[in-house]
Amino acid sequence: MKGVESMDASMEKTLKNFESHGIKARYFETGEQARQAIVQAVQGKKVAFGGSVTLQQLGFYEALEQNNSVFWHWVTPTEKRREREKECEVFFTSANALSRTGEIVNIDGTGNRVTMAAYGPEKVYYICGVNKLCPDITSAIDRARNVAAPQNAKRLGLDTPCVKDGVCHNCQSPQRICNVMDITLRRPGAVEVELWIIQEELGY
Ligand code: SF4
Repeated sequence: MKGVESMDASMEKTLKNFESHGIKARYFETGEQARQAIVQAVQGKKVAFGGSVTLQQLGFYEALEQNNSVFWHWVTPTEKRREREKECEVFFTSANALSRTGEIVNIDGTGNRVTMAAYGPEKVYYICGVNKLCPDITSAIDRARNVAAPQNAKRLGLDTPCVKDGVCHNCQSPQRICNVMDITLRRPGAVEVELWIIQEELGY
């Protein structure tokens, strides 16, 4: 794979840590390389996407819909979202944070991303920019709570205290988006998990 030659030792170690947790990990130098690879990797499948600015920026929906049946509630809002997501064979999401020790952290409002990723389809892809990498679980949780969630609340135009100062206040707002936190410590037993890390700043 083009780009792997330029991977530094710390990225190599990070990928190995994920692999040792049962998570297949790949590195890409650019989003374009990842997009070309995903078109080859996923064909003729029922695919669903979780909400993700990263996936939007990468154009994965447009790339995959050519050879797959793809459902994304951001593109086709429907009351049957739960049923449509459950039908999929492959699920795509990003993460709010990754620890270099090999764990994935996500905070969810509705819980669809975390439940699908933990016990949904046959295969789950996490697609993340290097900006999601943190040294360890503690800093990854901190990133999810105090970087990703406030920025997502801001993107959604919510009336939550984090939008004003960019840090989490563990609010009681009716518009709170932090209801479920999932930390993937190892590959969940019933799902094949692949993590792609791209050497670009993507999403929040
Ligand atoms: S719990 Fe509330 S304040 Fe904290 S990040 Fe989530 S929405 Fe913002």
